[in-house]
Formats: sequence, structure tokens, C-alpha cells
Amino acid sequence: MIQFVGAGPGAPDLITVRGAKLLRDADVIVYAGSLVNAALLDDVKPGCRIYNSAKMTLEEVLDVMVAAERAGEKVVRLHTGDPCVYGAHREQMDALDAAGISYAVCPGVSSFCGAAAALKAEYTLPDVSQTVILTRMEGRTPVPEKEKIELLASHGATMVIFLSAGMLDTLSTRLVTGGYAPETPAAIVYKATWEDEKVVRTTVAGLAEAARSHQITKTALITVGGFLGDAYERSKLYDPSFTTEFREATHP
Ligand code: SAH
Repeated sequence: MIQFVGAGPGAPDLITVRGAKLLRDADVIVYAGSLVNAALLDDVKPGCRIYNSAKMTLEEVLDVMVAAERAGEKVVRLHTGDPCVYGAHREQMDALDAAGISYAVCPGVSSFCGAAAALKAEYTLPDVSQTVILTRMEGRTPVPEKEKIELLASHGATMVIFLSAGMLDTLSTRLVTGGYAPETPAAIVYKATWEDEKVVRTTVAGLAEAARSHQITKTALITVGGFLGDAYERSKLYDPSFTTEFREATHP
């Protein structure tokens, strides 16, 4: 069985316990070298063969994994963050299905969680936003028309924008066109949880300039919304006057 494993956002100790065990036991590892921290490969088994998928095509990745699996070897496909967000593992799973090879997925900490930790922020504040939109701007990969930034921005919800750090002039303009006030708080989180992590707090209008002044062009998430501000309602869950499944209200 081939194991797809989420490597986490960067810090090598942010892989799951299960993922770390799968890595230690692997005979073959194919890792996404563009973003996975190579320190995760320090404790592999002697003789483990390691391939960097950043330099490979889908066909080459599949050839390596299928041959190793057929030879009875333990294969780990190591994706950055969690594979379910821009991981391109669906096409690998479909090809494995077609080849009659079984696989499992071990989740990882996505970079959008790493970014919230770096910001010490909660994306879902009562009365501010109860929705997190994970999206990207179109680059060479198109984005469906219904999901264009302006339409998503019109909700005023928390937005976490992947794969777009090199296009911030356009992103700012489109966020404002969509309905965010230019002074809406925004933050750029570069290499969340890595040693060289940078957190830059700014506004929607200030995104491009903030990135330029910190020389950030990639490996960053853009977060936007009132969750970065100071105003919110406290939670009902921990409100003394609120009864929940587990606790009676003390002074209703
Ligand atoms: N599957 C990954 C995302 C892969 S897409 C995940 O769950 O995080 C690659 C994009 O993710 C990058 O262009 C960047 O926008 C973002 N990214 C990945 N790791 C990051 C990190 N540590 N800090 C900030 N952004 C990161």
C-alpha cells in the first residue's frame, strides 16, 4: 500500500506521529522538494531511496512508486502541508486505482493552519466571520470564473490566499473591487513555521508594498479580513449565561 503523507507546513516536528513513523519505515520516499523541509528526511532507514518530485513528471513519479510497490517495498509520497490543498494527489490516486494499487492518506498540518499559528489568530471570530475561504489567484492554472477573487471577496469572510504572493498589486485591486475596504487588515505570512518565517501585518491596500519591502515573492500566504482586527463578540460556548450540552448556565 502506498502512503500519501502530509509533511506539515515546514517545521520538521509538525509532521503527525503517524506520518513520522511511515517516513521512518519507508524504503522509497518521493517528496515535494519545492516546499517540504528536507530535514524531515534526516531519520530515514539506511538504504531508503529518496526522489524529489519537483524535478519529475506525474508519469515519472508514478513509475517510481508503482515499481517499488510491486517489488514489495514501502512507499511514501510526501506532500507539503496537507495533500488535500493544492496537492495534486488526486491524479496520482486515480492512476493507482487504474493500476489496482491500494493507498492511504495520512493528513498533515496545512500551511493555512501554520499561518494562523504564526499570526496567533483565530479565523472564525463571532460577529466577524464564520467562514474561511481558501483560494488562489489564477496563474498558469486557471480558476473557475465563479470563484474569481472579486466574487469571493464580496462575502467579506476570512480569506486565505495561496500561490499568489507574486501578484499582490492585482490581488489588492481585485479584493477592493470585490468589496473589501482598502484599510481592511491583511497579513502576509512567509514560510510559516520555518526558521526564517516572516509575518507582515498590513492592509488590503498595502499588500504589494509590504511584500516588496520584505522581499517576499513566494512561499507565502495572504490572509485578509476582520479577524486580524480587534473587534469581535465573545463566544457563546464559554459564556456563563449560555447552557450547552456539557454545562448548565450559571447565571442565565
Ligand atoms: N498542500 C499545501 C499547499 C501547497 S500549494 C498546504 O496544505 O499548505 C503551495 C502554496 O502553499 C505556496 O505557494 C504558498 O502559498 C503556500 N505555502 C505552503 N507552505 C507554506 C508556508 N510554510 N508558509 C506560507 N505559505 C505556504
